[in-house]
Amino acid sequence: MNAQIQNRVQTEFRLLINGRLVPGVSTFDVTNPATEQVVAACPRADARLLEQAVAAAKAAFPTWSARSIGERRRLLIELADALAARAGEFARLLTQEQGKPLVYATGEVDSAVGMLRTFASMDLPVKVLKETERSRIIEHRTPLGVVAAITPWNFPVAILINKVAPALLAGNTVVAKPAPTTPLTSLLFGELCARILPEGVVNVIADLNDLGSALTSHPDVAKVTFTGSTATGKKVLASVSDTLKRSTLELGGNDAAIVLDDADVAKVAPQIFFWSMFNSGQVCLAIKRVYAHDSIYDELCTQLAQLAEAAIVGDGQDPETQLGPLQNRRQFEKVQGFIEDARRDGKIVAGGKIGEGPGYFIRPTIVRDIADDARLVREEQFGPVLPILRYTDVQDAIARANDTEYGLGGSVWSSDPQRAYEVARQIDSGTVWVNTHLDCPPDVPFGGAKQSGIGAEMGQQGLEESTQCRIVNVAL
Ligand code: NAD
Repeated sequence: MNAQIQNRVQTEFRLLINGRLVPGVSTFDVTNPATEQVVAACPRADARLLEQAVAAAKAAFPTWSARSIGERRRLLIELADALAARAGEFARLLTQEQGKPLVYATGEVDSAVGMLRTFASMDLPVKVLKETERSRIIEHRTPLGVVAAITPWNFPVAILINKVAPALLAGNTVVAKPAPTTPLTSLLFGELCARILPEGVVNVIADLNDLGSALTSHPDVAKVTFTGSTATGKKVLASVSDTLKRSTLELGGNDAAIVLDDADVAKVAPQIFFWSMFNSGQVCLAIKRVYAHDSIYDELCTQLAQLAEAAIVGDGQDPETQLGPLQNRRQFEKVQGFIEDARRDGKIVAGGKIGEGPGYFIRPTIVRDIADDARLVREEQFGPVLPILRYTDVQDAIARANDTEYGLGGSVWSSDPQRAYEVARQIDSGTVWVNTHLDCPPDVPFGGAKQSGIGAEMGQQGLEESTQCRIVNVAL
């Protein structure tokens, strides 16, 4: 098979509303960020189609929630099997709309299959919380109703499934809305849902960033599960307040990696490089700042710069590519702004080069000798530009790592895991790793501290956030 045929992806897409695959009111182009060529025309919903999607989800809720959890589990496993059977097609489409190398697109689809299977293995048992001679108190976990699932453009498949799977298992119905620059894999997933699930249980609509607030403020939506920027998350929180609907917000981050003086630089540098540049730095939980002890600072900067110089940046469809383009023009321009400021605020020792196009390519960029108040250190760059800061006292490094409104992740690197653990315990984040980063198993809860989010996803806690805790107190 020649490469062109192998890379061919579906080009006709439909919204999913009430079990039917329907055209939108118009279309908009989805662009491959590596080539700036159109991948496909995406159907666009309007307020009327959004109403239909919410109405369909509302109408489907009583029957879906009345099914046994065992039946819902079986259908989640069917969805997992269907996604696994078409994993290659999903991965190719993901690379074309998102830009990431095919090997990582395949990994993302595989992890989505794994999440469906993990949630299908979970349970919401009725629990007797207290039993005395006078009373029995029982906890039930009941579904909420219609869940709005709003996703960003960096991991459009994994984040969608991360929201849909627990919502469905718990007995809720869903209206999903992907980001406008990466809607196609969500619509393709809608095709699987149309075949496997009863009508209205999952609906997928697409917009041009104009339907989010109508969805989050809709009185028939019971819960919003949102992943995106902190700025938009605040708007979501404001818009759910009127109806007091439940919300889970997974927002931005500015993860610090603290490298202790005893770290083996040759071992640590490739990992720090990988977890800061993975997905071209467009990861909420990417390493976005490094605090390195004075005794290893120069060596770490040198090794990170060498890794940056050696990295292969290109079209994700090329098997040689390690880092793809930035996902969209807005982000491409935003990251260029960070690089321009870094030229003034620090010393660029690798990268700093912008591709001449086509494609939104930026070479991995390492910035040393930069101060804590530089924009690249204070703000979320969400791109392949990494500042390295120097410290001499570890308590000072911890204080500087915590001096941010974000609190998503962080990591500590050392040859002594126990020593690193004692430092990790002091980082104000939802997750802190020792000698690794971004390891998020689907059966472990994950959520942000401070302005990185509210609530958790994944794990039993993530599943329970799709439910209402109902206490039944029986006097005996
Ligand atoms: P974004 O906030 O611009 O958009 C996210 C989604 O919200 C899109 O679907 C968008 O159409 C929708 N939206 C836009 N305006 C809305 C509104 N007023 N109401 C409701 N929805 C609205 O974010 P992005 O640029 O797509 O994603 C990048 C950001 O996401 C980064 O800050 C990153 O750190 C964060 N992120 C967080 C996590 C996490 O789990 N914490 C994971 C991935 C990405």
